[in-house]
Amino acid sequence: MKLKFDGREKLMKPLQEAFREQKIAYFSMEIGLVNEIPTYSGGLGVLAGDTIKSSADLKLPLVAVTLLSKRGYFRQEITEEGKQMEHLVEWEPSKIMELLSTETKVKIQKREVSIKAWLYNVQSLTGGVVPILFLDTDVEGNLPEDKEITSFLYGGDERYRLKQEIVLGIGGARMLEALGLSIRKYHMNEGHSSLLTLELLKKYRMDIDRVRELCIFTTHTPVEAGHDKFSYDLVQEIMGEIVPLEALKKFGGHAERLNMTRLALNLSEFVNGVAKRHKDVSRALFPGYEIHSITNGIHSYTWTSQSFRELYDKYMPGWANEPELLVRVGGIPDEEIWHAHMEAKRVLIDYVNKMTNIGMDYDTLTLGFARRATGYKRTNLLFSDLEKLKKINKKGKMQIIFAGKAHPKDELGKRLIQEIFGYIRKLRDAIKIVYLEDYDMGLAARLIPGVDVWLNTPLRPLEASGTSGMKAAHNGVINFSVLDGWWVEGCVEGVTGWAIGPHPDEQLSTDEAKIRELDDLYNKLEYIIIPTFYQKRDEWIRMMEDSIGKIAYYFNSHRMMRRYVTEAYL
Ligand SMILES: *Cc1c(COP(=O)(O)O)cnc(C)c1O
Repeated sequence: MKLKFDGREKLMKPLQEAFREQKIAYFSMEIGLVNEIPTYSGGLGVLAGDTIKSSADLKLPLVAVTLLSKRGYFRQEITEEGKQMEHLVEWEPSKIMELLSTETKVKIQKREVSIKAWLYNVQSLTGGVVPILFLDTDVEGNLPEDKEITSFLYGGDERYRLKQEIVLGIGGARMLEALGLSIRKYHMNEGHSSLLTLELLKKYRMDIDRVRELCIFTTHTPVEAGHDKFSYDLVQEIMGEIVPLEALKKFGGHAERLNMTRLALNLSEFVNGVAKRHKDVSRALFPGYEIHSITNGIHSYTWTSQSFRELYDKYMPGWANEPELLVRVGGIPDEEIWHAHMEAKRVLIDYVNKMTNIGMDYDTLTLGFARRATGYKRTNLLFSDLEKLKKINKKGKMQIIFAGKAHPKDELGKRLIQEIFGYIRKLRDAIKIVYLEDYDMGLAARLIPGVDVWLNTPLRPLEASGTSGMKAAHNGVINFSVLDGWWVEGCVEGVTGWAIGPHPDEQLSTDEAKIRELDDLYNKLEYIIIPTFYQKRDEWIRMMEDSIGKIAYYFNSHRMMRRYVTEAYL
């Protein structure tokens, strides 16, 4: 995908054209589009970016709304002891986006706060374009503290977060209105933007049915504690009364706090989880609501490495805009699959050896694990039994690559990184293991395609979907994962990859499940994965092909967007 931002005309034209048709407005607190725009922290943002890219490819009438996050998330440095250091990311929106002259306002703490918007067009080679509005409160006349509202992604305290959500939801809806765009649906990607429902209630004079018809809500969080909640006192103080408090409580929950997920659930006609398993979990969490599922996907072209792009171009031309074609992977000779993989592996191993002095090689079985460093992702599970790991490594050598940032306030996540550094030291003489700094989209695009096995060991049921395994599959990298999120649908044991632990239908306690998980983790490594990799290369390549032909052809954001269109947007 070519992203163009040369000149005002190219930027403005799509927006002008947008006036002619009714748009789907897609709201997301974070959007991960390209490495140069650091307005994302992880999977949620990358999913939003992939949603937008596929929409542009498919020429869907979408306009996206997000916050500018002028100071980005953060750049991660890790000391030799494994301590995470956080640095500001400097980027200059004016170099890649166009400032629009239209402004709007929201009321925060009884003050009028002005909001401006930067326009960035995602341009597809198909000719489709999706404009993104990056909202920015750094407007002259705003108080210094108000200017900072759109500075830090997931920064500050809950007051700061509420202000951000007012700007995103209410400010975003008003900005669309001020630009004269006509909106046919409002799609909330997670509950951060659900205050927009209040703006719509106000606009349509409390016509609840009308508002519900307009709203679509995608939930991403499978635990109660993960949903944003604000005390009604705080809401009254910061936001005032957009709608009468009694009405707000009716939709946002009668307990003392406004639950952003409930607000969206109550005022959206279509609600979905991001995998079938996640739908079941969400229904249990919120009984009484009709919750559908549209399983996530990734933007195939973005996440396919150069060598596989060339291979697919040769054997399945048109695959990037029609990823279903990947089902025909069987027509590619095995040697060429292996060759493309070794090319991606070389790129990664060269990078690892350049960034560290570990001295990894191209032929050793390489495991990868990279994602946000946070408790439920259990980055440390593989190290539960170090002696066992050493013993397994004697059956066939392994090397392991880790990466991932911890949220600056997630002390557990930071300790997890330190813990991994400890294991790396302890195993130094036996197994080569590195933890790469500053995991972002650029590193993900290099890391995931370059390993042989992609490992994922989340604590069930906390992985709502997960998407990095889909990126792996697009590159013939075989998944070895806990049966949670998308993998419950993607895993055919021994065909598309391997499962770690029990199927969700088995009702086990967390402790019982963990025993099974560790058994699978170590036994499958020792008795299946290592022997297959080193002694049955044909079988290995068949599984690589099945990852492409049975996973990638389906778990892509083109299929996902077609589902949103037919099930939610139309
Ligand atoms: C794809 C991606 C994620 C999501 O990974 P999961 O393993 O699904 O959590 C997070 N961060 C980055 C930078 C990514 O590219």
